[in-house]
Amino acid sequence: MKFNYSLDNKRYHTFNYHLKKKFNNKVAKISLNAGFTCPNIDGKVGYGGCIYCSKSGSAEFAGNIEDSLIKQFYEIKEVMDKKWKNLKYIAYFQAHSNTYASVDVLKEKYESILKIKDVVGLFIATRPDCINEEIINYLSQLNKRTYLVVELGLQTIHDKTSKLINRCHSLSCFEEAVKKLKQRNIEVVVHIINNLPYETKEMMLDTIRYVNKLKVDGIKIHMLFISKNTPIEKLQDKYHIFSMEEYIDIVCDQLELLDEKIVIHRITSDPDINTLIKPTWLVNKRSILNNIDKELLKRNTYQGFNTSILNRFRQIIINNINESDIVVDATTGNGKDCLFLSTIVKKGFVFGFDIQEEAINKTTNLLNKNNIKNYQLFLNDHQNIDKILNKYKNKISLVVYNLGYLPKSKSNIMTKKESTINSIKASLKLLNNKGFILVVAYPHDEGKKEKAEIYKLRKYNYIVNEYKNTTNDLAPVLLEIKKQSCHITPQLTEI
Ligand code: SAM
Repeated sequence: MKFNYSLDNKRYHTFNYHLKKKFNNKVAKISLNAGFTCPNIDGKVGYGGCIYCSKSGSAEFAGNIEDSLIKQFYEIKEVMDKKWKNLKYIAYFQAHSNTYASVDVLKEKYESILKIKDVVGLFIATRPDCINEEIINYLSQLNKRTYLVVELGLQTIHDKTSKLINRCHSLSCFEEAVKKLKQRNIEVVVHIINNLPYETKEMMLDTIRYVNKLKVDGIKIHMLFISKNTPIEKLQDKYHIFSMEEYIDIVCDQLELLDEKIVIHRITSDPDINTLIKPTWLVNKRSILNNIDKELLKRNTYQGFNTSILNRFRQIIINNINESDIVVDATTGNGKDCLFLSTIVKKGFVFGFDIQEEAINKTTNLLNKNNIKNYQLFLNDHQNIDKILNKYKNKISLVVYNLGYLPKSKSNIMTKKESTINSIKASLKLLNNKGFILVVAYPHDEGKKEKAEIYKLRKYNYIVNEYKNTTNDLAPVLLEIKKQSCHITPQLTEI
């Protein structure tokens, strides 16, 4: 598998690929400390800053604040030039909030750097509450002259966490800033932090779903770390801190969910080893990056994989169904799911049901065209599944339902709440001890009723898990139904 947006065989949209496409030249970022402060430190909106922020304003490796910007720039450039020839540069205004000053001050600082030969861009890290109308107009002018990227801190979309970490700005303020920048065609990179105290995996995934919706250009994914002399030090034993494995697992889940067009500027954190308290595994950056690559390879997934519910549906089947299993497609429709299932159970068998002759004919043609032999289709209501497959009680490993209408058909025959739930209950009687049911349900009126009926199975001690890949209420969802005694580990989360 080769991911489209990568030069180096990574399974995510790398910043290197993005730069190479844009400049066709090696480009290096030089981190600067322009001496700005932050409205969350000086009392304008808060005191003490975010609870994890160090005195340097999260810029441990930027230039020395005592030196002029030009001196900082040339000192780092000299080191870089020894390593690479014909470099171009992006100046990175990194420490604290780099738009927290008057436009005159900003102009003086940015323009002094832009004059330097071979500087091709400016990256400006700031807070969403430090971008007013005058500043945005100036940034808009700058954007026409150079490659401009504004990096905005979001960290989390959850109010409770935001309060706990003392962010002191609202989600709507962030959203406004993104909108204003995007209206001026300025590239926006958003910062998020994983493992903020008390956040669950689902909360972290929700932050990604939100980022997808905003259509930002890039993302920096950080792991929260605790440094000496930061307010979060006192919380260090009060919440669970991820192991490297846990971090890699959540980052891979986030990548699978993230829109493939969003450029990954960072995927782990770079703490200062001299002040780092926890987690110490963060210093092994190479190993973290390699393990992320290995995990995606193992899962055979990539950035954006789970933006399609169908990919997720297929991945669950690939991970849990063996080639000798017997499986059922309870709604064969055009036959695509049947065909997929038959490629997985090469030595097993596929049964299919549909109430429409058109569907059975289409599925038969598709399977025959692909030389599939191990199948049998029934032109019958799937409510009769347990009677028709009576001989296969305790032998079926999977039943799939793709609810709704037959795609590309004029017919208005669709699955219905009552027959769907009757059929699911009948299917449950046929499952073996690793058997489960997967349902793709749509959010039209009948689909909502079907979903509600399926959820009622929980009252009878069945496990019903749901997966949604977006916050968009109009998108289909994937449901997993199984008996409490089922051997397979949950693939979807309970919501
Ligand atoms: N999985 C299909 C594919 O890959 O093309 C799409 C299935 S389509 C969304 C839903 C199908 O369910 C329709 O073909 C419809 O005829 C069928 N259907 C509706 N009610 C049914 C029932 N009670 N028993 C069996 N099939 C039913």
